[in-house]
Amino acid sequence: MVAPSVSSSPATARTPSAINHLESIDPASGEVIARFEMTPPGEVARVLERARQAQAEWAQKPLRERCALLRRLREVMFARRQEIAEVITREAGKPRVESLLSEVMLILDTADYYARKAPKMLRPERVPHHSLAVKAKSAWLQYEPWGVLGVISPWNYPISIPIGVLIPAIVAGNAVVLKPSELTAWCGALVGELFEQAGLPAGVLQIIQGKGDVGAALIEGGPDKVIFTGSVATGRRVAEACARKLIPCVLELGGKDAMIVLADADLEIASSAAVWGSFTNCGQACLSVERLYVEQSVAEKFTQICVAKTRKLKVGRGLDGDTEIGPMIRAGQVTRVEEQLRDAVARGARVRTGGALRTELGDCFFEPTVVTGVDHSMLLMQEETFGPVMAICPVVDAAEAVRLANDSAFGLGATVWTRSARRGREIAGQLKVGTVMVNDVASYFAICEAPHGGRGASGWGRTHSKHGLLELVQVKYVDVDRLPRVPKSWWYGYSEELGVAADRFLEMLFAPTFRERLGSARGALKTLFRGHRI
Ligand code: NAD
Repeated sequence: MVAPSVSSSPATARTPSAINHLESIDPASGEVIARFEMTPPGEVARVLERARQAQAEWAQKPLRERCALLRRLREVMFARRQEIAEVITREAGKPRVESLLSEVMLILDTADYYARKAPKMLRPERVPHHSLAVKAKSAWLQYEPWGVLGVISPWNYPISIPIGVLIPAIVAGNAVVLKPSELTAWCGALVGELFEQAGLPAGVLQIIQGKGDVGAALIEGGPDKVIFTGSVATGRRVAEACARKLIPCVLELGGKDAMIVLADADLEIASSAAVWGSFTNCGQACLSVERLYVEQSVAEKFTQICVAKTRKLKVGRGLDGDTEIGPMIRAGQVTRVEEQLRDAVARGARVRTGGALRTELGDCFFEPTVVTGVDHSMLLMQEETFGPVMAICPVVDAAEAVRLANDSAFGLGATVWTRSARRGREIAGQLKVGTVMVNDVASYFAICEAPHGGRGASGWGRTHSKHGLLELVQVKYVDVDRLPRVPKSWWYGYSEELGVAADRFLEMLFAPTFRERLGSARGALKTLFRGHRI
């Protein structure tokens, strides 16, 4: 594969005046592997204008044509799947297997899902009216695109996160301006290329490359809605900027997901899940398992199994076929993990395995780490770690586990391990998060029917599933009166007599007994057949 040196993808907003470039860096080697033109913030208004023009035509295309685009997109992505996986691994560092299974598979399935389901999800919906007062009305809900969406995405799933939003956004008739992370500009450019190759008309998707100032300019330019995925700190800035312009936004922010292991759980399976859930993508997933609450009767045994399994993991370059833990994205991210570990150890935590940089491999390779002796005074248990650290805390019982799991500013996901489906469901009902999995971890992100999103500091709104699609359309209520020649009883021409009739009408609708309701019917009908109106 040839890496673009200085390039903008065909769908990238062309910026002849751009003099600055973003460097795409391989986190495994620190080498610059590609360069991309940055979009000057001053150009963003023009990009949005172009999107507006393209959207007007795109929204006019029949839905079946927009679904056909998704089928072509799926074919293009399938044909280029190896290349997509390689770009992800080179630019974001994750093992190749993860690029294929947690990114490429997700986008193929998402294209398939919405190509099949969008026609039903977006079909106008009849509204049956329950109230007698409006029985003469025929009405329906129709779903209309917002117009131009601003999508701002992070680096940790640089293909599946943006494409997971773009597919439903575009099939619903929106145009999108995407600002990918500055750390994964190559993946961002590739996103534009894939849609263009699938035949998406020019302007419906444009990629703007750059740092936070370009993201800020996108919001300032006034898209109709913003879909942001990233950290809590940036999410707050995005929400403030959107609020100033009254632009609605979806915020998919950080997480601090808890895993609750009850004494009756299958410890072999639960420990494998804990190790994978904590370390996949080197712990750099919003729904990584970061806190484990394990019933004390099995806590030490469970910890020992986790430590043994963690020691077997192969750390290395993502492109090597047997690598299980790739590099972290940047040295700065490693520093944050080290700080949290230092704070935890100073407060009494014990590192049972890992805890150090693998300097012989490079600056970003951090050993998968298991920590015990933790409590909620530690940064490690309060702040998002976003690195390969598993913190295990014994608990007296399920009630304590639930209390501690809920003792967090975040509320993205959680997982419960027990052989009893009934207990699993009970505990799921008590957790203050967007998603709970019982006896599985994180995989819901790749389940098209599962809405994704959080509570509290984890953000608001949903992506994926029917609920994610409905975030990307406006609902319009259309009401056609079946008696167009009959004036409404509530219009002007008020009188004493109408007041009495109106009261009878309320009695007819809401009096406690059927008898009273029937008794009021005649008086009530006077509201309909009254004389003087204006
Ligand atoms: P980040 O907040 O640093 O950056 C996210 C995006 O916002 C980038 O494209 C960045 O350029 C842009 N940005 C920065 N400043 C901006 C501004 N003022 N206005 C507009 N855009 C701006 O996040 P990151 O480091 O790229 O990603 C990691 C974070 O994302 C973690 O906290 C992780 O939990 C979170 N995340 C959440 C989800 C989820 O679905 N909830 C998924 C993946 C990642």
